Amino acid sequence: LKPDGCGIIIFGASGDLVYRKLMPALFNLYVRQLMPEKFYILGFARTEMSDDDFRERARKALTDAHKNSEAHIIDSFLSHCRYTSGDYNNIEAYRQLQKKASICECDYTKKENKLFYLALPPQLHSTVVSRLSQSGLTVEGDKGNPWARVVFEKPFGHDLQSALDLDNHLCSMLNPSQIFRIDHYLGKETVQSILMLRFANIMFEPLWNEKFIDNIQITVAESVGVGHRGGYYEQAGCLRDMFQNHMLQMLSLVTMEPPTRFEAEYVQNERVKLLKAIRPWSERTLKDNIVRAQYTAGEINHEAVQDYRQEANIDPDSITESFVAMKLYIDNWRWQGVPIYLRSGKRMHMRESEIAVTFKRVPYSLFGFESQHEMPANILVMKIQPNEGVDLTIHTKQPGPKSCMASLSLSFKYSEVFDVAPQDAYERLLLDCMLGDRTLFLSSEGVEAAWTIIDPILNFWRNYPEKSPLQTYKAGSWGPKASDDLLLRNGHQWRNPPDE
Ligand code: NAP
Repeated sequence: LKPDGCGIIIFGASGDLVYRKLMPALFNLYVRQLMPEKFYILGFARTEMSDDDFRERARKALTDAHKNSEAHIIDSFLSHCRYTSGDYNNIEAYRQLQKKASICECDYTKKENKLFYLALPPQLHSTVVSRLSQSGLTVEGDKGNPWARVVFEKPFGHDLQSALDLDNHLCSMLNPSQIFRIDHYLGKETVQSILMLRFANIMFEPLWNEKFIDNIQITVAESVGVGHRGGYYEQAGCLRDMFQNHMLQMLSLVTMEPPTRFEAEYVQNERVKLLKAIRPWSERTLKDNIVRAQYTAGEINHEAVQDYRQEANIDPDSITESFVAMKLYIDNWRWQGVPIYLRSGKRMHMRESEIAVTFKRVPYSLFGFESQHEMPANILVMKIQPNEGVDLTIHTKQPGPKSCMASLSLSFKYSEVFDVAPQDAYERLLLDCMLGDRTLFLSSEGVEAAWTIIDPILNFWRNYPEKSPLQTYKAGSWGPKASDDLLLRNGHQWRNPPDE
């Protein structure tokens, strides 16, 4: 599992993601002895900093994130870190970067493998890739030895056309094998475990189809608001921020066909095939099957929280959605007619991401129910975060002289069973980048297929706002009434996770 020696060159090394996620993830890999024997981390951004300033910023992030780590381990990790500043558009800055990378190679690795991580706002991605390419930094050796890989953070474009333009540009500068598009949800242990649960156990797959499954619900509820990312969120909104990527990727893992091999191309192809099978929207379904909403002031965990429009860097007349719920169908043999419900929002009742698969009821009730429809259903819940685990509701006899039925849950939590907290998604993804494994990354076709589903919704909202009015929901609730009504029309209800 140990990658070959390499340099990790992080663009945007003064930004939020680097200190909150990337450095802690790299440090964790270091502690678990999964970093290469020889490596360096070279930060690059416009902000002027010395190597020591960069290390001090990183030290603070690491001591905040890893309170129990011993200082000498942090020191040892930080001794691999250096920094250089420059303008992202200035070719001279890339010459300086190259010089510093060469010094680092001499000092640390003697290898020229390079991983470029673009922790930058997406409008800079094209510029940086062009300059990297012009300065020869992304040239690979014979048979990819030494290698050069570039990691892109979401969002990939802001609509279908911009995503296609970006992709064409990247593919004109880099080989597809050099491009790593991150959707960090795919790096979560619990998301990867969806495939394992489905395809390593014989008991689920025979039932995993329209004959036995009544509906599927995917919820990603956040209790936080937009925080310090108001400027970005106001432009993006919930549909672009959560659905174009995380929600559709989770959906594809739950519903795709088994790949014939657990390798990047095979897994990516099945995910894409599934996304392409999602029923295209019509004017009626765009209007009736999608709800968008924005939160108003409310209370979460007994604390008052303000209206979306009062948050920092948000337009006081904003019509950006902070919540979306939708119903969609998959047009293939396996899923014909099964409603799939997706919802995600900020400032919801609690932080909870889960996938709930509700099975059909038994065909005939033996146990005292007037009709089969009154029988409770079996529900399999994959808890993505927090309290990562799996929960299966089954029905059994309640102890006693009569035939009374009780519903109970067979469940486990990863943290209790394995006695370790799940690995952070970025750890897994950074390790895979260094190893060159693209299974958990998005393909260009995958990004296009996802935008093909999202683009008509954005156009509809823009062109016919009166047909899809923005609803409101109180902060701390589970969303607007229209979201509940969306399910009630099919006789369903959202499965709202119980308070812990
Ligand atoms: P950020 O803090 O806004 O920006 C990172 C760095 O980019 C800044 O420190 C700044 O460095 C430079 N920068 C920002 N705006 C710029 C501009 N207009 N022109 C030139 N340089 C600019 O971004 P981030 O939150 O770290 O996120 C980085 C990427 O990860 C984004 O694509 C974001 O969508 C994605 N992402 C972030 C998170 C998260 O939780 N933060 C989660 C998922 C994905 P200098 O001024 O020093 O050059």
